Order: sequence, then structure tokens, then C-alpha cells
Amino acid sequence: MLGATSRAVKHSGGVVMPATQRCQPGSESISSSDMVRLVLFDIDGTLVHTGGAGIKAFARVFATEFNLPNGVEGIKFAGRTDVNLVREFFLRHDITPNAENFRRFFEPYVFWLDHILAQSHTEACPGVAQMLRALRALPQPPMIGLLTGNIQLGAEIKLRHFDLWREFELGAFADDHEERDQIAHAARRRANRVLKRELRGEEIVVIGDTPLDIRCGRAIGAKVLAVATGGATLDDLRPHKADWLVDNLAEVTARELCA
Ligand SMILES: [Mg+2]
Repeated sequence: MLGATSRAVKHSGGVVMPATQRCQPGSESISSSDMVRLVLFDIDGTLVHTGGAGIKAFARVFATEFNLPNGVEGIKFAGRTDVNLVREFFLRHDITPNAENFRRFFEPYVFWLDHILAQSHTEACPGVAQMLRALRALPQPPMIGLLTGNIQLGAEIKLRHFDLWREFELGAFADDHEERDQIAHAARRRANRVLKRELRGEEIVVIGDTPLDIRCGRAIGAKVLAVATGGATLDDLRPHKADWLVDNLAEVTARELCA
């Protein structure tokens, strides 16, 4: 399926999205200046499933460091940034959200994340390896990066577990900013520096599994591919109007994304 010419993306419910970005049949007019030069992947629910290791590590630190064993209760994790999640926890429990307390959280967090991940049932999402390979095999391969709400060390621990960390040339993380939209701007700035020019929005594709991923892609004018491999279903994602919406990454080709 990968490497096929442009075609409608289908899933069990039929054609998923209007092909706003897609090359029309017979059109050969897309020049290299319109090609996608940067593809940014979310991590959790988009590249990998960690068996809840991240949430369990949060819970472990809340319990061991802050003596609040039910600290994750009521907190919605999907699409949020690590720093923002910890801030919510602090605010819920009257803990001052200062640098010292964030350090108290994140130092043991990465230890527990690594530890719990090793004991968890984990798997890469469908189509990830093929998509990465196909992106690299394009005639003009884009840069491949991360756009994630994980802190950088957390992202590295998660992706090293799947031997995926080395696949990414750059990344932007919760260390860059607490808000996901601003992390997207950071990713774009970083890519601009590497490429030594200002990328236009249409040269960037953001791939993610939540409405917040779609929103942050829009914040930098990027095209967005939404995948229903995280918690959100196709029906959850549909109203947010990504450029492509698929069950999983195996349903879309690198060529379609980067034309
Ligand atoms: Mg995600």
C-alpha cells in the first residue's frame, strides 16, 4: 500500500476526509517548492502504546514524592503536556507550582517511567515502521521530527524502548513550552534553523491522535493527519477537521502526505 499513487484514504466507514491537500488524479502540477519538508509526529497513541507507563509513572511520583496515592484521579492526560499535567496536579493539591516542585516531580518521574516501561505491555502503533521507512524512501525525503507534550527525556526513554528514538532528526517537547501550540512553534523554529530558511505552513505535516494535536498543527499553519490509534475515535476526531483522518498510519502513504 505504501508508495502507491494518490488515492482516497478509506477506512471501514468509507472515504474519510475531503482531499483538500491531495493531488487530484492526473495533476502533475505540484512543484518541489510545495512539497512537505517536515513531518512531525506525536508520540503517545500516534507512534506507540506504552501500556499506560507514563500515567503509572505520574501516579508513582505523586504517591512516593508528594504522598498523594490517588494523584492522577480526575486528570485527563490525552494530548496534554507533561508540565501542564503536573501543574494541574499541583493546583488540585495546593502545592506551589515552583521550579523546585517541578524538579521534585520530574527527577523521579524519568526513573519510574523507565522502570515501569520495562514491565509494561507495549507496542508500536500499526504502520509506524513502514511510514518512517517510506518517508525516507521518497525522492526528496522530508525531515522527520517529534512534536510532543512529553518532556524530552521522557520522550527519549519511551522511544528508545521501541528503538525509535534514532529515527527523529529533531524534536520539540514540553521542556520548550507548557502549551502544545507553542511547542509546535518551537518545532518549526528548530527546523527553520536546520534548513536555514523559513518553512511555510504547507511544507509541514503534523501527525497526532487527539484534537489538541490537530489544533497545534493548525497553530503553525501545517497540514494535519489525525490517527485514531490513541484514545480518540474517528467520530471524536472528525469534527476537528484534520486534512486526513485514518484508523491508523498503515492507511495512508508517505507519498500522499508529502505531495
Ligand atoms: Mg498522543
